[in-house]
Amino acid sequence: MIEGGCLCGGIRYRYDGEIEEISYCHCSQCRKAHGSPFAAVSPVATDRLEFIAGAELLREYRSSPDKLRVFCATCGSPIYSAKDDLPHIRRLRLGTVDTPFTCANAFHIFTESGASWWDCDDGLPRYAQRKP
Ligand SMILES: [Zn+2]
Ligand SMILES: [Zn+2]
Repeated sequence: MIEGGCLCGGIRYRYDGEIEEISYCHCSQCRKAHGSPFAAVSPVATDRLEFIAGAELLREYRSSPDKLRVFCATCGSPIYSAKDDLPHIRRLRLGTVDTPFTCANAFHIFTESGASWWDCDDGLPRYAQRKP
């Protein structure tokens, strides 16, 4: 069981599952949305992600025609993203997770769009765009 929430604490969620993948996304949208050189995200099953507080605080921003980014209306924490054609998957923003976990299946994506000032040679696989 994974628990987490936003910065202000208004939104709290529970995920009935494990974090099985971490992608560090360096795309320009994630950099803007997170205010950081990359976002750390994991796909989770929509039907196992439960909002136990603050569901009414969730706000959606359509950053691409087919993609929503969902964040807290009060504090702005990014919570997850979702694609219209993959309704059973949400991409959870792992910085909002409070439960300690480890996951060796980690990699960088969209490194060709990465910030010029960040050198992320940590030995993990790197992909210029999506993971093939
Ligand atoms: Zn909040
Ligand atoms: Zn991205």
